[in-house]
Amino acid sequence: DRMKKLMIFLLAACFVIVSMADVFAATQYVTIGTGGVTGVYYPTGGAISKMVNAKRKEYNLRATVESTGGSVFNVNAIMAGDLEFGVVQSDRQYQAFNGTADWEGKPQKKLRAVFSIHPESVTLVAAVDAGINGVADLKGKRVNIGNPGSGQRGNALDLLEAAGINYEADLKAEGIKAAESAGMLQDDRIDAFFYTVGHPNGSVKEAVAGTRQVNFVPIDKAIVDKLVGQFPYYAPSVIPVGMYPGVANKADVPSFGVKATFVTSADIPDNVVYAITKEVFENFDNFKKLHPAYSTLTKESMLQGMRAPIHPGAMKYYKEAGLK
Ligand code: GLU
Repeated sequence: DRMKKLMIFLLAACFVIVSMADVFAATQYVTIGTGGVTGVYYPTGGAISKMVNAKRKEYNLRATVESTGGSVFNVNAIMAGDLEFGVVQSDRQYQAFNGTADWEGKPQKKLRAVFSIHPESVTLVAAVDAGINGVADLKGKRVNIGNPGSGQRGNALDLLEAAGINYEADLKAEGIKAAESAGMLQDDRIDAFFYTVGHPNGSVKEAVAGTRQVNFVPIDKAIVDKLVGQFPYYAPSVIPVGMYPGVANKADVPSFGVKATFVTSADIPDNVVYAITKEVFENFDNFKKLHPAYSTLTKESMLQGMRAPIHPGAMKYYKEAGLK
């Protein structure tokens, strides 16, 4: 009888231990919001998830990637708790945290920065037959300024305003997603499109590879200077034409730009943010090889351009690694 009681006790103990182990081992899933599949955000989400999923057993963490409408969509989805992480333009990070532009009067105080990634240029792609050689030539043209969830729409509106162009009165403005822009340009349904994006990328390659010849529109220095003076998050940039064989421009094209950044919410646990940060930085050389738009990345550059407070999980890693 004592034997029987002991057996029952042991069985129960085993059961408790097994179910506890199960709880501790439960995999935590996080989703990274990106952009259109032919941009750089989507493969960037893939690169980050590859780093952390390689250590799935150690962290019990699995990251998946979602194609989305872009920066504004990602911020809002993270703040609503629908996504855990997202790739977001540095200007959007600033605006959301401080309550300007799309978040006028609604500062997103729980937005947190994790790290910065590649530089992005405001890229104005036009059909050569439309004769658009400067921003002023956009008047009267069919121009995709970007879908409302995108990062580029705000950059297009800032640029048009600085150039004295009213997008409602002076343009036939479209609000379509970046992934559809190249096809629409080649089908002669638009004359030009804006895309704030790292180079090289699939969308611009697709636009340049078609039968309708394409040029990048240079942004006048005076307008760039005005924008850089007016907003803390803009910097002058250059679009490297060598990355796009077939484009009509012969020399690199001046523009302005921002940085792609990786963001999350203050509600995401420190250990999750720590794990992702650590895996990206500890595997930096491998990470850098995953996309040609990362060619200029350094660990130091990945700590520059953040506009919201750094998440404590990321900060823990930066302190440990002597980066902060
Ligand atoms: N910068 C774009 C946005 O915020 C996305 C660019 C990309 O997908 O690479 O909407």
